[in-house]
Amino acid sequence: MSSSSHPVSPLAPEDIERFGTDPEASFRANLAVVEERIARACERAGRDRASIRLLPITKTVPAHILRLAYAAGVRPFGENKIQEAMGKRDALQDLPIDWSIVGHLQTNKAKYLARFAREFHALDSTKLAELLDKRLEIEDRVLDVYIQVNTSDEDTKYGLHPDALLPFIETLAQYRRLRPRGLMTLALLNADMEKVRPCFALLRRLRDEAVKRNPSLTELSMGMSGDFEEAIEEGSNVVRVGQAIFGKRPTPDGHYWPGLLKA
Ligand SMILES: *Cc1c(COP(=O)(O)O)cnc(C)c1O
Repeated sequence: MSSSSHPVSPLAPEDIERFGTDPEASFRANLAVVEERIARACERAGRDRASIRLLPITKTVPAHILRLAYAAGVRPFGENKIQEAMGKRDALQDLPIDWSIVGHLQTNKAKYLARFAREFHALDSTKLAELLDKRLEIEDRVLDVYIQVNTSDEDTKYGLHPDALLPFIETLAQYRRLRPRGLMTLALLNADMEKVRPCFALLRRLRDEAVKRNPSLTELSMGMSGDFEEAIEEGSNVVRVGQAIFGKRPTPDGHYWPGLLKA
Protein backbone atom coordinates (compact mmCIF):
# COMPACT_ATOMS: atom_id res chain seq x y z
CA MET A 1 0.00 0.00 0.00
CA SER A 2 1.12 3.51 -0.77
CA SER A 3 -1.03 5.21 1.84
CA SER A 4 1.98 6.58 3.69
CA SER A 5 3.08 8.68 0.69
CA HIS A 6 -0.49 9.66 -0.28
CA PRO A 7 -2.59 9.96 2.84
CA VAL A 8 -6.24 9.25 2.05
CA SER A 9 -9.21 8.06 4.00
CA PRO A 10 -9.11 4.30 4.50
CA LEU A 11 -10.74 2.24 1.78
CA ALA A 12 -14.28 1.10 2.41
CA PRO A 13 -15.18 -2.53 1.68
CA GLU A 14 -17.06 -1.49 -1.47
CA ASP A 15 -13.95 0.36 -2.70
CA ILE A 16 -11.84 -2.74 -2.17
CA GLU A 17 -14.42 -4.89 -3.89
CA ARG A 18 -14.41 -2.67 -6.95
CA PHE A 19 -10.84 -1.35 -7.12
CA GLY A 20 -8.82 -3.88 -5.10
CA THR A 21 -6.69 -3.31 -2.02
CA ASP A 22 -4.20 -1.03 -3.81
CA PRO A 23 -6.10 1.01 -6.41
CA GLU A 24 -3.10 3.26 -7.09
CA ALA A 25 -0.93 0.30 -8.07
CA SER A 26 -3.61 -1.26 -10.23
CA PHE A 27 -4.38 2.04 -12.02
CA ARG A 28 -0.68 2.45 -12.70
CA ALA A 29 -0.49 -1.06 -14.13
CA ASN A 30 -3.67 -0.62 -16.21
CA LEU A 31 -2.39 2.68 -17.57
CA ALA A 32 0.82 0.96 -18.67
CA VAL A 33 -1.19 -1.72 -20.49
CA VAL A 34 -3.33 0.91 -22.23
CA GLU A 35 -0.18 2.81 -23.23
CA GLU A 36 1.30 -0.38 -24.65
CA ARG A 37 -1.88 -1.09 -26.63
CA ILE A 38 -1.87 2.49 -27.98
CA ALA A 39 1.78 2.09 -29.00
CA ARG A 40 1.05 -1.16 -30.84
CA ALA A 41 -1.95 0.32 -32.64
CA CYS A 42 0.24 3.26 -33.68
CA GLU A 43 2.84 0.85 -35.03
CA ARG A 44 0.25 -1.06 -37.02
CA ALA A 45 -1.17 2.15 -38.45
CA GLY A 46 2.21 3.80 -39.04
CA ARG A 47 1.26 6.67 -36.77
CA ASP A 48 3.16 8.80 -34.29
CA ARG A 49 2.12 8.27 -30.63
CA ALA A 50 2.34 12.03 -30.14
CA SER A 51 -0.63 12.52 -32.50
CA ILE A 52 -2.94 10.75 -30.03
CA ARG A 53 -4.15 11.95 -26.67
CA LEU A 54 -5.42 9.61 -23.98
CA LEU A 55 -8.42 11.10 -22.18
CA PRO A 56 -9.15 8.98 -19.10
CA ILE A 57 -12.88 8.79 -18.34
CA THR A 58 -13.53 8.85 -14.61
CA LYS A 59 -17.31 8.62 -14.37
CA THR A 60 -18.64 6.61 -11.40
CA VAL A 61 -15.16 6.56 -9.80
CA PRO A 62 -15.54 8.34 -6.44
CA ALA A 63 -13.44 11.42 -5.65
CA HIS A 64 -11.33 9.78 -2.93
CA ILE A 65 -10.38 7.02 -5.40
CA LEU A 66 -9.58 9.63 -8.04
CA ARG A 67 -6.93 10.98 -5.68
CA LEU A 68 -5.19 7.63 -5.99
CA ALA A 69 -5.64 7.72 -9.77
CA TYR A 70 -4.06 11.15 -9.88
CA ALA A 71 -1.14 9.83 -7.82
CA ALA A 72 -0.83 6.97 -10.32
CA GLY A 73 -0.41 9.50 -13.14
CA VAL A 74 -3.94 9.37 -14.55
CA ARG A 75 -4.95 12.75 -16.02
CA PRO A 76 -6.78 14.77 -17.20
CA PHE A 77 -10.23 13.62 -16.04
CA GLY A 78 -13.22 13.21 -18.35
CA GLU A 79 -16.74 12.99 -16.94
CA ASN A 80 -20.05 12.21 -18.62
CA LYS A 81 -22.43 14.05 -16.28
CA ILE A 82 -22.01 17.63 -15.17
CA GLN A 83 -23.38 17.23 -11.62
CA GLU A 84 -21.04 14.33 -10.94
CA ALA A 85 -18.11 16.33 -12.36
CA MET A 86 -18.93 19.35 -10.18
CA GLY A 87 -19.05 17.27 -7.02
CA LYS A 88 -15.64 15.75 -7.73
CA ARG A 89 -14.14 19.05 -8.71
CA ASP A 90 -15.22 20.52 -5.36
CA ALA A 91 -13.74 17.54 -3.51
CA LEU A 92 -10.44 17.71 -5.45
CA GLN A 93 -9.88 21.45 -5.60
CA ASP A 94 -6.40 21.10 -4.14
CA LEU A 95 -5.24 19.16 -7.22
CA PRO A 96 -4.44 20.87 -10.56
CA ILE A 97 -6.90 18.85 -12.65
CA ASP A 98 -8.20 19.69 -16.12
CA TRP A 99 -11.81 18.58 -16.53
CA SER A 100 -13.40 17.45 -19.77
CA ILE A 101 -17.11 16.84 -20.19
CA VAL A 102 -17.76 14.13 -22.77
CA GLY A 103 -21.49 13.46 -22.45
CA HIS A 104 -24.74 15.08 -23.53
CA LEU A 105 -25.47 18.36 -21.74
CA GLN A 106 -28.93 19.76 -21.06
CA THR A 107 -29.10 23.42 -22.01
CA ASN A 108 -30.00 24.45 -18.45
CA LYS A 109 -26.61 23.05 -17.31
CA ALA A 110 -24.50 25.17 -19.68
CA LYS A 111 -23.76 27.70 -16.95
CA TYR A 112 -22.10 25.07 -14.77
CA LEU A 113 -19.95 23.68 -17.53
CA ALA A 114 -18.82 27.19 -18.51
CA ARG A 115 -17.40 27.72 -15.02
CA PHE A 116 -14.72 25.06 -15.06
CA ALA A 117 -14.53 22.68 -18.03
CA ARG A 118 -11.52 22.85 -20.37
CA GLU A 119 -13.18 20.85 -23.13
CA PHE A 120 -16.60 19.65 -24.14
CA HIS A 121 -16.94 16.63 -26.45
CA ALA A 122 -20.69 16.55 -27.05
CA LEU A 123 -21.64 19.81 -28.76
CA ASP A 124 -24.65 18.98 -30.93
CA SER A 125 -26.99 21.96 -31.09
CA THR A 126 -26.96 25.65 -31.94
CA LYS A 127 -28.96 26.41 -28.82
CA LEU A 128 -26.29 24.83 -26.65
CA ALA A 129 -23.50 26.62 -28.53
CA GLU A 130 -25.22 29.94 -27.99
CA LEU A 131 -25.81 29.36 -24.28
CA LEU A 132 -22.27 28.15 -23.68
CA ASP A 133 -20.83 31.15 -25.51
CA LYS A 134 -22.94 33.53 -23.44
CA ARG A 135 -21.96 31.90 -20.17
CA LEU A 136 -18.28 31.73 -21.11
CA GLU A 137 -18.39 35.45 -21.82
CA ILE A 138 -19.68 36.05 -18.28
CA GLU A 139 -16.98 33.82 -16.82
CA ASP A 140 -14.34 35.33 -19.12
CA ARG A 141 -13.29 31.85 -20.23
CA VAL A 142 -12.91 29.91 -23.48
CA LEU A 143 -13.83 26.30 -24.14
CA ASP A 144 -12.42 23.72 -26.57
CA VAL A 145 -15.35 21.98 -28.25
CA TYR A 146 -15.78 18.79 -30.25
CA ILE A 147 -18.92 18.44 -32.35
CA GLN A 148 -20.72 15.17 -31.68
CA VAL A 149 -21.93 13.34 -34.77
CA ASN A 150 -24.19 10.30 -34.85
CA THR A 151 -22.24 7.89 -37.05
CA SER A 152 -24.08 4.71 -36.09
CA ASP A 153 -27.39 5.43 -37.82
CA GLU A 154 -29.10 4.47 -34.58
CA ASP A 155 -31.78 6.48 -32.85
CA THR A 156 -29.53 7.56 -29.99
CA LYS A 157 -31.00 11.06 -29.54
CA TYR A 158 -27.49 12.53 -29.24
CA GLY A 159 -25.19 13.84 -31.93
CA LEU A 160 -25.83 15.65 -35.20
CA HIS A 161 -26.97 13.75 -38.25
CA PRO A 162 -23.99 13.65 -40.67
CA ASP A 163 -25.96 15.77 -43.16
CA ALA A 164 -26.41 18.51 -40.55
CA LEU A 165 -22.71 18.87 -39.79
CA LEU A 166 -21.52 21.31 -42.45
CA PRO A 167 -24.37 23.82 -41.91
CA PHE A 168 -23.75 23.59 -38.15
CA ILE A 169 -20.07 24.43 -38.61
CA GLU A 170 -21.00 27.65 -40.41
CA THR A 171 -23.10 28.78 -37.44
CA LEU A 172 -20.25 28.16 -34.97
CA ALA A 173 -18.09 30.94 -36.39
CA GLN A 174 -20.10 33.60 -34.53
CA TYR A 175 -19.33 32.19 -31.04
CA ARG A 176 -16.09 33.80 -29.99
CA ARG A 177 -15.68 31.89 -26.74
CA LEU A 178 -15.94 28.45 -28.36
CA ARG A 179 -12.82 26.93 -29.85
CA PRO A 180 -13.88 24.22 -32.30
CA ARG A 181 -11.21 21.51 -32.22
CA GLY A 182 -12.76 18.55 -34.01
CA LEU A 183 -15.46 15.91 -34.19
CA MET A 184 -16.53 13.30 -31.68
CA THR A 185 -18.55 10.12 -31.99
CA LEU A 186 -19.69 7.05 -30.13
CA ALA A 187 -19.43 4.02 -32.39
CA LEU A 188 -21.91 1.17 -32.21
CA LEU A 189 -21.36 -0.77 -29.00
CA ASN A 190 -20.73 -4.06 -30.69
CA ALA A 191 -18.10 -6.76 -30.39
CA ASP A 192 -18.06 -7.12 -34.17
CA MET A 193 -15.42 -4.62 -35.29
CA GLU A 194 -16.63 -4.87 -38.89
CA LYS A 195 -19.70 -2.97 -37.65
CA VAL A 196 -17.71 -0.56 -35.49
CA ARG A 197 -15.02 0.53 -37.97
CA PRO A 198 -17.43 2.13 -40.48
CA CYS A 199 -18.54 4.57 -37.74
CA PHE A 200 -14.93 5.70 -37.28
CA ALA A 201 -14.28 5.81 -41.01
CA LEU A 202 -17.38 7.98 -41.50
CA LEU A 203 -16.26 10.44 -38.81
CA ARG A 204 -12.87 10.69 -40.48
CA ARG A 205 -14.44 11.46 -43.88
CA LEU A 206 -16.65 14.07 -42.23
CA ARG A 207 -13.62 15.62 -40.56
CA ASP A 208 -11.86 15.84 -43.93
CA GLU A 209 -14.84 17.87 -45.19
CA ALA A 210 -15.24 19.88 -41.98
CA VAL A 211 -11.63 21.03 -41.89
CA LYS A 212 -12.10 22.68 -45.30
CA ARG A 213 -14.79 24.89 -43.74
CA ASN A 214 -12.94 25.53 -40.49
CA PRO A 215 -9.19 24.77 -40.44
CA SER A 216 -9.18 24.31 -36.65
CA LEU A 217 -11.44 21.23 -36.86
CA THR A 218 -8.53 18.80 -37.14
CA GLU A 219 -9.17 16.36 -34.29
CA LEU A 220 -11.10 13.09 -34.11
CA SER A 221 -12.34 12.14 -30.63
CA MET A 222 -13.24 8.48 -31.06
CA GLY A 223 -12.52 5.15 -29.41
CA MET A 224 -13.29 3.80 -25.92
CA SER A 225 -12.08 0.81 -23.89
CA GLY A 226 -13.69 -1.69 -26.26
CA ASP A 227 -12.53 -0.16 -29.53
CA PHE A 228 -9.72 2.36 -29.07
CA GLU A 229 -7.18 0.37 -31.08
CA GLU A 230 -9.50 0.21 -34.08
CA ALA A 231 -10.22 3.92 -33.62
CA ILE A 232 -6.49 4.69 -33.72
CA GLU A 233 -6.13 2.62 -36.87
CA GLU A 234 -8.96 4.68 -38.37
CA GLY A 235 -7.30 7.99 -37.47
CA SER A 236 -8.40 8.92 -33.93
CA ASN A 237 -6.58 11.75 -32.14
CA VAL A 238 -8.34 11.47 -28.77
CA VAL A 239 -9.24 8.13 -27.21
CA ARG A 240 -11.67 8.29 -24.27
CA VAL A 241 -10.84 5.35 -22.05
CA GLY A 242 -12.54 4.49 -18.76
CA GLN A 243 -12.96 0.82 -17.92
CA ALA A 244 -9.57 -0.29 -19.25
CA ILE A 245 -8.02 1.94 -16.57
CA PHE A 246 -10.53 1.80 -13.72
CA GLY A 247 -12.08 -1.64 -14.15
CA LYS A 248 -15.63 -2.56 -15.00
CA ARG A 249 -18.33 0.01 -14.21
CA PRO A 250 -21.27 -1.04 -12.05
CA THR A 251 -23.72 1.04 -14.14
CA PRO A 252 -24.95 -0.50 -17.41
CA ASP A 253 -23.88 1.27 -20.64
CA GLY A 254 -27.51 1.83 -21.62
CA HIS A 255 -27.67 4.35 -18.77
CA TYR A 256 -25.30 6.61 -20.72
CA TRP A 257 -26.08 5.79 -24.32
CA PRO A 258 -29.74 5.01 -24.83
CA GLY A 259 -30.13 3.47 -28.27
CA LEU A 260 -26.58 2.36 -28.99
CA LEU A 261 -27.03 -1.08 -27.45
CA LYS A 262 -29.73 -2.29 -29.80
CA ALA A 263 -27.29 -3.15 -32.54
C1 LIG B 1 -17.91 6.41 -20.40
C2 LIG B 1 -17.53 7.04 -21.68
C3 LIG B 1 -16.38 6.64 -22.37
C4 LIG B 1 -15.46 5.55 -21.86
O1 LIG B 1 -16.07 4.30 -21.92
P1 LIG B 1 -15.25 3.02 -21.35
O2 LIG B 1 -16.02 1.87 -21.83
O3 LIG B 1 -15.27 3.18 -19.88
O4 LIG B 1 -13.89 3.13 -21.90
C5 LIG B 1 -16.08 7.28 -23.55
N1 LIG B 1 -16.87 8.26 -24.04
C6 LIG B 1 -17.97 8.67 -23.41
C7 LIG B 1 -18.79 9.75 -24.01
C8 LIG B 1 -18.35 8.07 -22.21
O5 LIG B 1 -19.46 8.48 -21.58
